[in-house]
Amino acid sequence: MNPADASRGYDVVVIGGGPAGATAAHDLATQGHSVLLLDRAGRIKPCGGAIPPRLIKDFQIPDHLLVAKARSARMISPADRKVDIPIENGFVGMVDREHFDEWLRERAAQAGAVRCTGTFERVERTDDGMSVVHFRSRTDDGPRGGMAASVRTRCIIGADGARSEVARQCVPGAEKTKYVFAYHEIIKAPAVPPAGYDGSRCDVYYRGELSPDFYGWVFPHGDTLSVGTGSADKGFSLRTATAAVRAAGGLEGLETIRREGAPLPMKPLPRWDNGRDVVLAGDAAGVVAPASGEGIYYAMVGGRLAAEAAQAYLTSGNPKDLAQARKRFMKAHGTVFLVLGIMQRFWYSSDRRRESFVKICMDKDVQQLTFESYMNKELARKKPMAHVRIFFKDMAHLLGFARV
Ligand SMILES: Cc1cc2nc3c(=O)[nH]c(=O)nc-3n(C[C@H](O)[C@H](O)[C@H](O)COP(=O)(O)OP(=O)(O)OC[C@H]3O[C@@H](n4cnc5c(N)ncnc54)[C@H](O)[C@@H]3O)c2cc1C
Repeated sequence: MNPADASRGYDVVVIGGGPAGATAAHDLATQGHSVLLLDRAGRIKPCGGAIPPRLIKDFQIPDHLLVAKARSARMISPADRKVDIPIENGFVGMVDREHFDEWLRERAAQAGAVRCTGTFERVERTDDGMSVVHFRSRTDDGPRGGMAASVRTRCIIGADGARSEVARQCVPGAEKTKYVFAYHEIIKAPAVPPAGYDGSRCDVYYRGELSPDFYGWVFPHGDTLSVGTGSADKGFSLRTATAAVRAAGGLEGLETIRREGAPLPMKPLPRWDNGRDVVLAGDAAGVVAPASGEGIYYAMVGGRLAAEAAQAYLTSGNPKDLAQARKRFMKAHGTVFLVLGIMQRFWYSSDRRRESFVKICMDKDVQQLTFESYMNKELARKKPMAHVRIFFKDMAHLLGFARV
């Protein structure tokens, strides 16, 4: 049967088959809804691919998708101070998005979602309460080729990533999103490791010359590495800075497999739904965490919440149910986004502050709380006194009492 048969109706059309869309399609199909998962395909998502254990657990990611397991993180300051943080009782998983995303889409298909390759174009409203999603189905004529196609649906999930076309067309306020631009190079892992290199460690560079407002990174991926940097400053050369990150890690001479970049939307949009039949998820909704740039986990949580909101709407017929996705996301993660946003603005604003920031990371309490929060997505509550100590240490640094 042709999935894009114009007469065919679906409960939900999910636009975008990245982590957000594939998760939403999987969850809805598992609940017995008819779902079309529309993805334009043809490009591997540029991404460092680091995922926390909470994601692996909550979304049942099999071990074979992890191409590497990072056991420690090294923070490197402007003055080359190196602070190694062991990842106690666990690891950060590394995935290759080419295989990870395809596996998620296939899991959605196994659950009953219908996959379709094509590029979303627009939504047309009808009088019978259904909407028609118009798209160009993919052919071998390249991205601009393809045949015009359309499907009818009761609900649309916009999970088409940063600069979402669904958000731009359907959700007021989406055009105001602010971005950090991230760029990375996938390079061959060294056959003979340079001095100081560790294939099970993530290196994070806090230096103004490598990023004036974000950070540079080297993430291990088994046979390859992701080396990159990001900045909201459009005049900043991410390519030159990435070359400098490579040089800092002794990785200049290694073969470059891919060069690619993409925007990171780091502020949740004020609205995720159109009050009628569209709800957004993932990068389309603006949910990449400030300071860290972590987006995969939040995309999958967003996809799950969008699916739940869509299901509630399909059951009740009340479009207000769609707003539940954002409400529930912000209740669970809004404080973390707020705190990380303040952190990024304050600590990433000058080399003097970056130096202090890396120094603070030497503190065992800070290490434990930071990693506990990243790994398990809960602000660590186990050690209340540690919060108090960190508060006073932070204040000392902020007020300049602590020696850098
Ligand atoms: C360089 C870089 C490094 C990063 N590193 C990390 C990291 O290490 N860890 C982490 O957690 N996050 C990282 N991120 C962020 C992370 O990649 C994103 O937050 C995450 O991919 C968001 O998932 P998503 O499903 O919302 O969107 P996407 O992954 O962007 O998926 C969107 C999907 O929609 C499809 N699509 C787009 N437009 C259309 C259309 N018009 N019609 C049909 N389909 C369409 C695309 O083909 C794609 O499959 C990084 C990002 C960048 C740019």
